Amino acid sequence: MNLSCGVAGFPNVGKSTLFNAVLKKQLAFIANYPFATIEPNEGIVEVKDARVDKLFEMSKSAKKIYSTVKLIDIAGLVKGASTGAGLGNKFLAHIREVDLILFVLRGFNDENVIREGSTSPSDDLEVLKTELCLKDLETVEKAKSEKRKVKNEKLDSVLAKITHALNNNKLISQIDLSDEERKEIKEYCFLTNKPYMILINIDENQISNFQFPISKQIGKEEAYLVSAKIENELASLSDEEQKEYLSSLGLKEAPLTHVIRAAFNKLNLIQFFTTGIDETRSWTIVNGSKAPQAAGTIHTDFEKGFIKAEVVSYGDFVKYEGWVKCKESGKLRIEGREYIMKDGDIAEFRFN
Ligand code: GDP
Repeated sequence: MNLSCGVAGFPNVGKSTLFNAVLKKQLAFIANYPFATIEPNEGIVEVKDARVDKLFEMSKSAKKIYSTVKLIDIAGLVKGASTGAGLGNKFLAHIREVDLILFVLRGFNDENVIREGSTSPSDDLEVLKTELCLKDLETVEKAKSEKRKVKNEKLDSVLAKITHALNNNKLISQIDLSDEERKEIKEYCFLTNKPYMILINIDENQISNFQFPISKQIGKEEAYLVSAKIENELASLSDEEQKEYLSSLGLKEAPLTHVIRAAFNKLNLIQFFTTGIDETRSWTIVNGSKAPQAAGTIHTDFEKGFIKAEVVSYGDFVKYEGWVKCKESGKLRIEGREYIMKDGDIAEFRFN
């Protein structure tokens, strides 16, 4: 599974600068990842994990593959986008497919860069949310006309609730709906039903003024502070130089890395690992996934023909220095179809 985030914001807030940083880094590692295609408006970010580094070293693997996040640039989300102003409509269609929306707001001051939105990040955020509400209202109208022939009272009642909320600028994710009601509307992929995070692109010389992890409240919401300029500079540096540069700023890691980790938490995702002489690799699954599903993220045949999983926790694997001693010490567990995977499990699957 490949977590995908749609990056949305007004023009001139620094989205492209952030993307360029991602693309620069991508060139260095992309050969490792068997992606079918990467569209021009997409970037792949590695989710660095010290556990993967350690396993890679222990197994003397030929390759190291981290989990990844796909960022999709949703350009052109401006006031009026929902009615098709600019390129809004075409780009909004992209957001339907993403797992999470990253709103990027302008927090830097530069008189030379025209400001497209209002003068406050919280007002800009409201405009962006309103555009998404309007787009969802359009989807509701479409849904109503499509379903007119087939009577579905349950759906009608949810759509009525949603319409009322959206008309009052309330996001669908914030409406009190039952599980059954949410199931009823799942197929429409409503934009305001998606989880979101807020990033503020602040002046590079302001970053050091905040305690890590750097976030601040805007209104009732928590926003993560990033600097597109700093990310862009980091992307041109070696690992060692990055560390030095970050520490000169008083940071332990790049703010964007922190944001991506927070996105994993937000979406309730965990990682399990496979490790051997060929490669050490991190896989992303939803917390609560059972062993066959986890196997299925590696290959669909693994899920269909699942027999059992051999599992060791990360802590034990390091403590007992690998598979052999884990087995001797009884730390290697044989798990069946009902086993619920835990974050940091190291697994080998047996299948037909
Ligand atoms: P986009 O329209 O949201 O993609 O914004 P861009 O990334 O193209 O940035 C618009 C302009 O703002 C460019 O000239 C950038 O160099 C500038 N810019 C982006 N981030 C920063 C920043 O953190 N500080 C300053 N001073 N300028 C920035």
